[in-house]
Amino acid sequence: MIVFDDVVKRYPDGTVAVDHLSLTVPEGTLTVFVGPSGCGKTTSLRMINRMIDPTAGTITLGGVDVMTRDANQLRRGIGYVIQHAGLFPHRRVVDNVATVPRLLGVSRKQARTRAYELLERVGLTAEHGNRYPSQLSGGQQQRVGVARALAADPPVLLMDEPFSAVDPVVRKDLQTELLRLQGELHKTVVLVTHDIDEAITLGDRVAVMRPGGTLAQYSTPDELLTN
Ligand code: ADP
Ligand code: ADP
Repeated sequence: MIVFDDVVKRYPDGTVAVDHLSLTVPEGTLTVFVGPSGCGKTTSLRMINRMIDPTAGTITLGGVDVMTRDANQLRRGIGYVIQHAGLFPHRRVVDNVATVPRLLGVSRKQARTRAYELLERVGLTAEHGNRYPSQLSGGQQQRVGVARALAADPPVLLMDEPFSAVDPVVRKDLQTELLRLQGELHKTVVLVTHDIDEAITLGDRVAVMRPGGTLAQYSTPDELLTN
């Protein structure tokens, strides 16, 4: 469970990106932060894994204030997926995925085996694994990004506009794939998007943010549609 309690983020230039945000992301659910550009979605997400520190308020993960955790330790339990998968261009796809288990001390051979399993899990083959990232389509690269984020088997997955750089058909595909994976893995997922349809399709819960970084509404998609 992730709890935002009266969280404020003010950047050094005075911009208030997140303004007194309080909400609870239940364990094992997929929560979507949605809203127009600049309303504090990314900032909120990055405060969970301490890429950004809040100015005031607290964020707890499993009951523990993230600010009291060692950032590297914290991130081992948090997968992170961004818009352009952020793959290492000079490493084969399989090795991009194997990097995380390697860092956790797994042998090269075991890490590769695990990486091929993860690639299969997101709908890719060993043949994809042996290519370089630039030799895959944008949608395939996003799948690799998801596989890599899952490599340490983290209980929490943060996804920042993971599908917005791919065309609508591929996006639908990736959304379906994420829902299937989530049905199997029951991670605590927080996903950021500016696309309200995506939020309604994917979210168990939807947090609607508005400019100025305040929370307009936090509800199930059904409640959102009836309002
Ligand atoms: P979103 O993800 O909803 O597009 P962000 O969290 O990226 O919103 O940004 C929220 C607000 O904070 C915006 O006004 C943005 O310009 C501002 N902002 C983001 N990062 C910084 C920064 N490093 N310094 C100053 N202002 C920032
Ligand atoms: P560090 O503080 O260890 O230098 P940064 O926050 O600067 O790490 O991030 C370095 C790179 O790692 C960035 O590309 C960022 O997107 C990525 N990253 C940050 N946190 C995570 C995470 N929890 N899981 C995966 N990648 C991450």
